[in-house]
Amino acid sequence: MNSKTRETINSHLNKIISEFRFNNRKLKQPKECPCYEQNKPCHNVDGELNCFLCYCPEYDNSKSEGGCKINSQKGKWYFHDKLPKGKIWDCSDCDNPHREETIRKHLKKLFGVD
Ligand code: SF4
Repeated sequence: MNSKTRETINSHLNKIISEFRFNNRKLKQPKECPCYEQNKPCHNVDGELNCFLCYCPEYDNSKSEGGCKINSQKGKWYFHDKLPKGKIWDCSDCDNPHREETIRKHLKKLFGVD
């Protein structure tokens, strides 16, 4: 890939990431998510919550009880007798998919830029 192509893709990645910042999205697309209308981010993140990866690409959905492909220390098992496997992976305290460096990493991989 030549440097001009890389530069163009990186510039578009920056636009995508900035477009999906919570504070930007709630102003431009207030009906897109109930959290925008209520001005209540669904996760606490160091810095600004970013909504691009609403669903985490690291969630292991190959198992019915779920799991984390990167073993994030912020995820945890939730145990309950009525669950089919007695437990399910709980991401509610993890901010990984909402941090901009995570989004940039996945988009760069997708577009083949380093
Ligand atoms: S949100 Fe966090 S704990 Fe859950 S799958 Fe993604 S990285 Fe793992």
